Amino acid sequence: MAAIFFEHFVGKDAKVNDPDTVIFFRDHLTFLDEVISEEKKKMGLLDLAGQLKFKQEEFSKKQGIKLHGELTDRKGSEGICHSVIAESYALPGQLNVGSDSHTPHVGAVGCVAFGIGTTDVFNSWITKDVRVKVPESVRVVVRGKRKPNVSAKDFILLLLSMEYIRSGKALAKVIEYCGEAIEELSVDERATMTNMAAEIGGFTGIVAPDQKTVEFLMERRNMPRAEAEGFCKGMYSDPDAQYAHVIELDADAITPMVATPGDPGNGKYVRELNTPVPVEIAYGGTCTAGKNADMDMYAQVLAEALKQGKRVAESCKFYVQFGSQETREYCLQKGYLEIFKQAGAIVIEPSCGACINAGPGVSTRADQVVISAQNRNFPGRSGPGQLYLASPYTVAASAVAGYIVEYEPTAQRKLVVA
Ligand code: SF4
Repeated sequence: MAAIFFEHFVGKDAKVNDPDTVIFFRDHLTFLDEVISEEKKKMGLLDLAGQLKFKQEEFSKKQGIKLHGELTDRKGSEGICHSVIAESYALPGQLNVGSDSHTPHVGAVGCVAFGIGTTDVFNSWITKDVRVKVPESVRVVVRGKRKPNVSAKDFILLLLSMEYIRSGKALAKVIEYCGEAIEELSVDERATMTNMAAEIGGFTGIVAPDQKTVEFLMERRNMPRAEAEGFCKGMYSDPDAQYAHVIELDADAITPMVATPGDPGNGKYVRELNTPVPVEIAYGGTCTAGKNADMDMYAQVLAEALKQGKRVAESCKFYVQFGSQETREYCLQKGYLEIFKQAGAIVIEPSCGACINAGPGVSTRADQVVISAQNRNFPGRSGPGQLYLASPYTVAASAVAGYIVEYEPTAQRKLVVA
């Protein structure tokens, strides 16, 4: 749409302002043909999705814009936009805009990143500007140490269930995460919380760059330490900064969460579910939960299950989908692909897929229960089924049990027995 606007209003042969700072992705619809209904095919929607791809390819070539497209040797994408931007592009102190609501994902690296509409994208290609009013900030402090079966996803599901957030008071505000439990999270894990600033309705989410960010830039970008430290230096809020509101959580009081179907704000503790909830589909993937750190969690749970002679329950299908080729490569090197295969999980190449009702892992019946590590579960988002949101630990543990359970790490279980 932005390309069509540009050619129509600026000129067929006009050049985008600074094309080196623009990046295109083909990520949402890579697997659409596998799940689209015959009825929608007849309406021409699959052909339309294909035309988007051709228009994107043509415009990027003409303008000299980098396109992270579909793979040429097998089905799949190079990566989901947010995953690749986090791995390869975003830097502390940068301002990033994206035509997708989960653009705040890379706030985990310490840049200000927010979603914009097509008109703003088109305008930015002319002027390199976007017009915004500096928003107020909400400070979220997570103190203490989290339990070994709790992750960033549990923190954010708890936040989303709180009255201040549910009543919309954080809308359009910057959500700044800090505190010992946030400092302890990897950049990948922090990205789960900055990504889901979109579910809060915030302008963006951000974590001040620190030593973890320096390590991330060194490991994932091969950046020399001095250069990484230079990017991170001085990037924090003033000690006397004013906040619209401060939320404080104790990490050690938090146990695994789920959001029940219909809204990411329907959070409750797994242990508060009144009856066992059998699951037919478990899904671990998307920009929110297809990162290296998420794969560590799926692999940890499945490896422990295999040691106990268990695998994915007969009654459940467990799909694991990488956020990017870099994450797929990471899994290959760590031996995770073998663990996933032995445990009976179905591994899928990168794409948004089931998250947007456009790939394997979608539900097909209204009574079908799905547990997913994705970020939103609005009605119909991933098919007609009952979609619960949870952490990668909880999703994998539930896939093995066949119903929604908390993950119990082996070490913790031994401790209880002792
Ligand atoms: S994985 Fe889902 S939430 Fe993330 S960009 Fe794709 S459709 Fe959006």
